[in-house]
Formats: sequence, C-alpha cells, structure tokens
Amino acid sequence: MRNILVIGAGIAGLAAARQLQFSNFQVTVLEARNRIGGRIYTNKNFGFPVDLGASWIHGIDKNPLTKLAQEFQVVIQYTDFDNIQVYGSNGEIFTASELKDANLLSQQILQEAKSLGKKLESDISVAEAIQYVLPGKKNITCRQSSLVQWYLTEREIQEGTDLDSYSVWEWDEYENLEGGNYLLPNGYEEIIQGLAKGIDIRLQQKVIEIQYDEKKVLVKTNSKHFLADAVVITLPLGVLKSAAVIFSPPLPKSKLTAINRLGMGVLNKVVLKFPQAFWSQDYDIIGYVSEKDKDFSVFLNLNRYISVPVLVALTGGSFARSLEALSEVEIGKRVMKVLRRMYGDGIPAPEVVIATRWARDSFACGSYSNMPVNAKASDRTTLAAPVENRLFFAGEATSQQYPSTVHGAYLSGLREAERIRRKFAI
Ligand SMILES: Cc1cc2nc3c(=O)[nH]c(=O)nc-3n(C[C@H](O)[C@H](O)[C@H](O)COP(=O)(O)OP(=O)(O)OC[C@H]3O[C@@H](n4cnc5c(N)ncnc54)[C@H](O)[C@@H]3O)c2cc1C
Repeated sequence: MRNILVIGAGIAGLAAARQLQFSNFQVTVLEARNRIGGRIYTNKNFGFPVDLGASWIHGIDKNPLTKLAQEFQVVIQYTDFDNIQVYGSNGEIFTASELKDANLLSQQILQEAKSLGKKLESDISVAEAIQYVLPGKKNITCRQSSLVQWYLTEREIQEGTDLDSYSVWEWDEYENLEGGNYLLPNGYEEIIQGLAKGIDIRLQQKVIEIQYDEKKVLVKTNSKHFLADAVVITLPLGVLKSAAVIFSPPLPKSKLTAINRLGMGVLNKVVLKFPQAFWSQDYDIIGYVSEKDKDFSVFLNLNRYISVPVLVALTGGSFARSLEALSEVEIGKRVMKVLRRMYGDGIPAPEVVIATRWARDSFACGSYSNMPVNAKASDRTTLAAPVENRLFFAGEATSQQYPSTVHGAYLSGLREAERIRRKFAI
C-alpha cells in the first residue's frame, strides 16, 4: 500500500487525506498546532461559539461546502451583506438611499479604475488607478466622498490588503459562487470535525525539513522522521514565504518566484461580548465612517446568529497589521472609542475581548493570499505544480478559481488527491 504524508490539518489537508484514504492509500497528516482546522478556528472558551478564522460559506450554489454541511448536519444561516446600518463619526446615521448611491459609485470607480488599468502597459495598484479616475467624478459632496471611501475600505477588509498594494490587472478576476453568503452559527469547526473522522492526524508535529528525490520523501518534524512515497504540502503561502521549512533539494526557481510574487493579506477580528446589546438587531453589518484614515469601520452583528450580545469588528490590511502589536486591553479601548462615537457614552464595557493576530501566527503568517502589483494569475498554477512527482501542493493560494476561500482550499486538496491517485495507479 502506498504511503502518503499530508502536511497541515487545515481544510485542504483534510480534504486530500480523506480522498486519498477513500482511494486506499495509507495516509498520515502532520500538523504543527495542537488543534486541527488551521485558518478555520472556532473559539468556544467564553461559552459561545465564535469563528476567529473563516466564518462564511461564500456562495452556496455549487459550493462543495454546502454538500459537506448537509452531510455533517451543520446549521447554516444567511448573511445579507447589504443589510447594513452605517454611522458617521458624530453618531449620525446614513440613509438607505445615501448608502445605495455611495455603493454604486464605489463600484463604478473600481470598475473604471480596472478598465483603465487594463489599458496600461505595466501593472499599477488599484489605489493608483483610482486616482486617475477620481477627477472625472464631479459634484461629489464631502459626505458622499467619505461614504464612498467607507465602501472602498470595506473592500480592503475583504481582500485583507490596502488598495495601494493590490494589482489593478488582477483585481476582481476571481469567480464568485452564486447563492449568497452563509454563516455557521455553531462554528465552522463542525465541518472540520466531520472531515477529520477516521484520519490518522499527528498533532504538534511541526515540519522543519522535507528531503526528496525521485523515489521517496523524508519529512523531519520537531520530534520525528517520516518516510513516504509522496507528500501533500498544504503549508500556507505565508509559511512558504517565511522559509521556515527547508526543502532539500531547494524548490525550483519558478516556484520560488511565484511564492515571492503572490501576496499574503491580513483580515483580523476583534470579538466583543457585552452584558447586553445596545445596537439594533435589524442589521447584519454595522458600519462606521471615521474621519481618521484608518479605524474600526465594519462590525458583524453576531447576536443575530447566536443570540448572545456579541459584535465582531473586522479589520484588514495595514490597519489590521498595526493592531497586532497591541494588547487585548488596548485594542478593546480603541474599539470602544469608536462604539461610543456611534452609540454614546452610556454603553456598557465589553465583558470579553478576543483579538486575532493572523500575521503573527507563525503557522499561518497572514489570513489569505492576494495579488500584489506584478503578481500573475499563473503564479497560482506554478505554486500548485508538483515537484519530481513526489511533492504535491494544495491550499487556498494554489487555487486558480477560488483562492482565499475555504471552498478553494477544499477543492485544491481534492485536486491533489486525484493527481496522486492517477500518478500511482499506473
Ligand atoms: C480571519 C479569517 C477570515 C476568513 N474568512 C473566510 C470566510 O468567511 N470564508 C472563506 O471561504 N474563507 C475565509 N477565510 C480563508 C480561509 O480560512 C482559508 O482560505 C482556508 O481555511 C485555508 O485552508 P488551507 O487548508 O489552505 O490552510 P490552513 O487552514 O492554514 O491549513 C494549513 C495547516 O498547516 C499547518 N502548518 C503550518 N506550518 C506547519 C508546519 N511547519 N508543520 C506542520 N503543519 C504546519 C497549519 O497549522 C494549518 O493547520 C478566512 C481566513 C481568515 C484568517
């Protein structure tokens, strides 16, 4: 029986391991952390489930996660990202028509920036392209402009990176699945637990070196050595960038170039549990238009899903990175400053504050991949290419169609399991 090692017990690794096991390979998963799931991580330490990594199934139609949710009987609940209430810095609330107009205008600006960028001979950032487009937008009031900026900031949070480092050539090039976004109120870990059943997973096995030739692979961890016919590597792009794992012989130059050119973005969350809700329960998302360049600006109203008074602040890019150096207390204070601008000084202090630090997490080194200026879509295919038919690469960053998502990572695991099955069937 062929023996395959899978590095990483995130969704890509678990998908690959399960599929390979179905195809009668002997599979062992090596995971550095003392838990499975990777960038899917449900925290239940405070008596309610909250996802500190991925939260949503993006687009439930034709999404393999929808099938898994059915198979494992996981509850899912619709999030309407247009169901928002947005506050200004003096506590005033923007009207629905102001929001609609600003949203349309921001989309128009991004579209025009992209069209303009496509005509250029060299790649520039989305922010730079926007600067060329803006003079054409006349008669925008200050109030409208700050709201348009809010929508652009929302995109930065989604992408995990500032628009001044995102490639205008690669902007919005990925396929979005239809059917709306669904949150898993009891936690994404239910999918992970379902997938992990019956798989040999070794926790706290931090891989430090991968030696390979055309016949075998030797994987060295902090405490053991493992020999295999092939290995599926699902190390996050950020970890590959950090060169924390030694490849011997080194990876091909083309792969190193792809690793270097692709970017790793940061989306962080600040979870705040209050003694009681002081915000409206009518909205999924609550926004704040700050007069500062970067501030807390998007909150998920988790109360609508778990019936516990919890808000989750979402931050992205350089702002998210800058917060990672601060303590929970300091971060909590800064969020409360914003919430007091919105709701007044009478609101209660949070009972619980949990802040994520995905960039500082040495087993993730960021939240998900993105496309900086000069990165190419083909870099993802190069990243996914096998080496010597012994090293196989999966993980969200290797997905051409659905990078940065759970379903992209899941499908990449199945893709590599199938590649190995075909390779060893001969
Ligand atoms: C805050 C946040 C919010 C997100 N929101 C969404 C969302 O709502 N919807 C969505 O679709 N996607 C979302 N994503 C993206 C999604 O979580 C990822 O794309 C996906 O989980 C990646 O899975 P993966 O298996 O490729 O990588 P990972 O889950 O990172 O798995 C890789 C595994 O390798 C392990 N590892 C690392 N180094 C070593 C080593 N040296 N030795 C052994 N093991 C190692 C890691 O611990 C990890 O378990 C979000 C991500 C973050 C961080």
